[in-house]
Formats: sequence, C-alpha cells, structure tokens
Amino acid sequence: MKKRLFTPGPTPVPETVMLKMAEPIIHHRNPEFGEILTRVHQNLQYLFQTTQPVVVLTCSGTGGVESTFVSLFSPGDTIITANGGKFGERWVKMPKAYGLNVVELKIEWGKGATPEMIKAALAEHPEAKAVYVVHSETSTGTATDVKAIAKVIREHSNALVCVDGITAVGAHEMKFDEWGIDVCVTGSQKGLMIPPGLAFVALSQRAIEKMETSTLPKFYFDLRRAVKSWQGNDTPWTPAVSLIIGVDAALVMLKEEGIENIWARHEKLANGIRAGVTAIGLKLFSDSASFAVTPVWLPEGVEWKKFNKILKSKYGITIAGGQDDYAGKIFRLSHLGYYDEFDMVTMITALEMTLKECGYAFEVGTGVQAVIKSFIK
Ligand SMILES: *Cc1c(COP(=O)(O)O)cnc(C)c1O
Repeated sequence: MKKRLFTPGPTPVPETVMLKMAEPIIHHRNPEFGEILTRVHQNLQYLFQTTQPVVVLTCSGTGGVESTFVSLFSPGDTIITANGGKFGERWVKMPKAYGLNVVELKIEWGKGATPEMIKAALAEHPEAKAVYVVHSETSTGTATDVKAIAKVIREHSNALVCVDGITAVGAHEMKFDEWGIDVCVTGSQKGLMIPPGLAFVALSQRAIEKMETSTLPKFYFDLRRAVKSWQGNDTPWTPAVSLIIGVDAALVMLKEEGIENIWARHEKLANGIRAGVTAIGLKLFSDSASFAVTPVWLPEGVEWKKFNKILKSKYGITIAGGQDDYAGKIFRLSHLGYYDEFDMVTMITALEMTLKECGYAFEVGTGVQAVIKSFIK
C-alpha cells in the first residue's frame, strides 16, 4: 500500500532530500559542514526575508519558542499572548511555567487575533515586554494578519513582536524585516519539508539587545550563545548534522522555486481543497483560512473513528483529527510543504471514496471536479 501523509507536521519529505540525509555522517567541525551551515544560514534569511540572524536549534518547534522565553525575559516580566487554539494555549502555559506574568487574550477557535484587540491589550498593559501571536494556528487552520498586528504593536508600544510561524513560514507571506518582526520561530517538519528535529529562530537587533538584560536561567537554549556561534557559521553544541544536510537540500529547492511562488502555491492548493470540500456539501471550520491546513466539519452521521480508519487502513492516507472540544467533530487536511495540484486531487478523491463508504450522500466526483476547476480557471 502506498502511504500518503496529509498532516500539518510531519509533512512529506522530497526523495532528493531523503537521499542527502542518508549519506555517511560528517563531523560538524569539518570545513565541509561549515560550508553547508553557511549556505543554510543564508537561505534561511531568504526564507524569512531578513538580513538578521536566523539560528538553527536542535529541538522541535516548541523548543525554539522556549528558547525565546528564557533568552529574552526575566521573572515577573509581562507578556501578552493571543490564544485561539492549542498552540496559542501553549504560549500561555509555557511562560507561566517560567514565572512570567501572562496576559491571555482568549479568542474563539476558528477566529484570528485582530489588531484592535492587540491595541487595546497594549493600552491596558503598557508594561508588556512582548506580544506573542500564532501566524497560522494549526489546531484551527486559522491565519492571523501578522503584518497588521506588528504595525499596531510597533506604533503603540516598545513590546517585541514575537511570532509562532511554525506552520506559516513557507506557506504565508512573511517579511520579517519589512514588517518589523522581532522573533519568528519555525520547525523542520512543517513548511521546510524535512523530518522533525530542528527549530529555526529569526531574531531582530532589538531582540538581541533585549537578551543582555534577561535573567531567567538558561543554558542549552541560551540564544546569546546561538547568535554568537551563528556569526561564525557554527553552532554552540553538536547539531543534528543529517537534518541540517537535509534542510540545506530543501532550502535550495525552496530558493529555486522562489518565495513568492511558494506562497502563491500554498494559497492555490488551499483554495483548491476548499472548493472541493464545499462542493460536496461539507462546511469549513475557520473564518480566516490558513494556507497550510484546512479544517472541515465532519458531516452529520459520519463517525470520525470509522472515517479515519477507512482512510488510513484501506487507502493509506493519514490526515489530522480535531483537538480538545473539536475532537471527533472536525478533521484537518494539510497542504503545507511538498505538495502540488495532483496531491490535492488525490486527497479529495480519497475523501469522496471514504465518505461514500460512511454513508454520506453526495454525487461522486463533484469534489474532484471542483478541485480541478479551481486549478485551471
Ligand atoms: C507544530 C506546531 C508547533 C509545535 O511544534 P513541535 O515541533 O511539535 O514542537 C507550534 N506551533 C504551531 C503553530 C505548530 O503547528
């Protein structure tokens, strides 16, 4: 059986990248590795659209965000977090664990944070040292207008603009320097098309300066060390060598495609899959669609367990379910990373075949047709 992954992390890995990672291991202090890391650093700056440091950490995306909390702040500092899903919630819990004072802006699942909401929170908490927002909330498939939010934060405060870009980078427009972002984190198993295990943290000069006064305990995740090593195209500790070799190959592919084309491709695939699911009568979950993942309400009478089992065991397709209150109520289809139009046709075909088997009534082929039409219009 051919297995296909349609989850928002891990995402499929291109064959050429897998082959690179299978090559014999090299030493991370060899000049050969130095060359690779130098190219990775340069291409990461292209990916984030920045001339400032983007450091590579050996950990998952969550570790990347943790490094920002411990490296930037001191106990008792106030930060504002917009929480509209599982990941927003994590950026409430994590800084609390470190003794930070967290102002939580709760947002209904499926809706994005608004500039007005952030502006009001900053007026109420002028002491806030940073605002954390999730660019693409993976649990709800919802995008946030980071550009507009960064503008409001910059105009009304000195707070750092901190972005969880873990499923946004490589799917949504991100102009780190132009938009005045201070911190943006992503992970390797999302838009970067390699297996889990690396985090990438882009840092502004303001963020780097802020680190000098931070007193939270830190060692492995001390971004001052990471930035210092970055200046010499090195890492403080043994990095995940094979993953860095993999991401080098993946970044070369991304550079060749061109960042604007990548953003446009994600938008096109997202629109295609949305056209397909709505054509067969399914309802979309989010008001503000992410280009990385599309959450869809399960139709009445279709049971998630059965639906998911058929997809997985009969057709080899893995998708993501709903989380928390939406477990068993929604499912999530990913189009983040190494996908093209034909993958979307495959996904909707599998969906149609499975829904039919689950007894959902619709005309077979309607979804497939809508997907194709959306691509050739
Ligand atoms: C996947 C994800 C994370 C967590 O990253 P891990 O690599 O699982 O630690 C954080 N935020 C968002 C938006 C994600 O999609």
